[in-house]
Amino acid sequence: MNNANIRLNLSNYSQKCTSCRTLVRRDTLQELQQMFVSHDGRPLKSCKTCRDNRALKSGGRPITRTSYDLDGHYDTHDEFIEGVSSFLEQHDDHKFDLAAQSMRIRAVLSTNTFVETDVSMTDCAQTGDRALQTRAAMLLRNDIFDCTGYYFQSRRCTEKNDEIKFSFTCSRSTERETERDPLKIQRYTIAKEFFDCRGLLHIIISKDNGSAVIVYEHRGHTETPKFHVTDEVRSYIDTHKLLSPRQIYQNLIRMAYDSQFEETDLHTITRQQVYNVWLSFTRMQWERDPTNDFLSAQLLIGERDGYQLVDGLQEQGVSLAFVTPCFSDAVNYDRAKMSEIFVDSTFNTNKHGYELYCVLTEYDLVSLPLSYLLLDTRGIREEGKRGSRLTAWFTALRDAGLNPKVVHTDKDFAGA
Ligand SMILES: [Zn+2]
Ligand SMILES: [Zn+2]
Repeated sequence: MNNANIRLNLSNYSQKCTSCRTLVRRDTLQELQQMFVSHDGRPLKSCKTCRDNRALKSGGRPITRTSYDLDGHYDTHDEFIEGVSSFLEQHDDHKFDLAAQSMRIRAVLSTNTFVETDVSMTDCAQTGDRALQTRAAMLLRNDIFDCTGYYFQSRRCTEKNDEIKFSFTCSRSTERETERDPLKIQRYTIAKEFFDCRGLLHIIISKDNGSAVIVYEHRGHTETPKFHVTDEVRSYIDTHKLLSPRQIYQNLIRMAYDSQFEETDLHTITRQQVYNVWLSFTRMQWERDPTNDFLSAQLLIGERDGYQLVDGLQEQGVSLAFVTPCFSDAVNYDRAKMSEIFVDSTFNTNKHGYELYCVLTEYDLVSLPLSYLLLDTRGIREEGKRGSRLTAWFTALRDAGLNPKVVHTDKDFAGA
């Protein structure tokens, strides 16, 4: 992190939109985040303006049955999730209309897209490993659950010379209703609602080049309830909270098929659900505890795995900097992915009147806190008392391996 890279002159927060490729600027981090979030709180990479424009353009366009409503090609898994999510957010109001035409989406994942860190489409194609292919298809099915709000149940798998095709139908389609097991119905306290939605999902893996084609056809209706997160799953996430949410999700899905867990619907859990539970366990208590001071923060940090004090910034009552497990655990959090960071600052939010700074990065579509700095320079009389400590903090993080291409800040630290 060279000083030259820090955008010191920015008086507000900014984030680059992947769609219009401009820096979107807002006065506060909250306002900025609102530009990049879906209606249900999922972080997105395209800005709200772009998404609104897309909705406007497609609004008056007659839908021709020869084409797809969305026909997207994606090079990465993140782009796929982002593309399908933002399209659905604009075009599906979750109100069922029997007269409406089905929405049709085709998403092509290019060769060698990684659905998970250990599941690439190329491996699926080349190894002919049916278990791996099935896992990839189920992961994509669950991603569609996250993106659309609909859960699709497996119907059949057909194999040809050049492709393998997994077919699913909507769990709430009326054809599913007629095949319900009367013994099972009694287990549900709330009657399920079914729709003539003709919901179909096909996931086709090419054996030739390892690309995947996802075809979705559906008439929208109310969302399918998500998997009930059991105490067992919550405690697993708590125990493994030092892993990235993505890794935890991957482990849970694998365990769902290895039946380590009691008979549940664990295989239907989504990335977003895992992230929400993970976040609730990783929020730090001291942030909300008004009785804590520098010393108790220091003690707490010493007791927790993954939290490490930053050398040179531990002046009693003046400065205290530490890194979080998201930074100290370089094995599970790839620092090469931390190419853009945000510096967030909060002043006078507690009885001590110290300043709180946080370095955040966007990682796998979520914001992770990497390091915090508590600063109270009120009792110090020296030139650049704040700036010198902020510089020392950034330098320490850089020396520890953080090397972002862009740093977004809301303060002119040079003049601090
Ligand atoms: Zn944009
Ligand atoms: Zn449906």
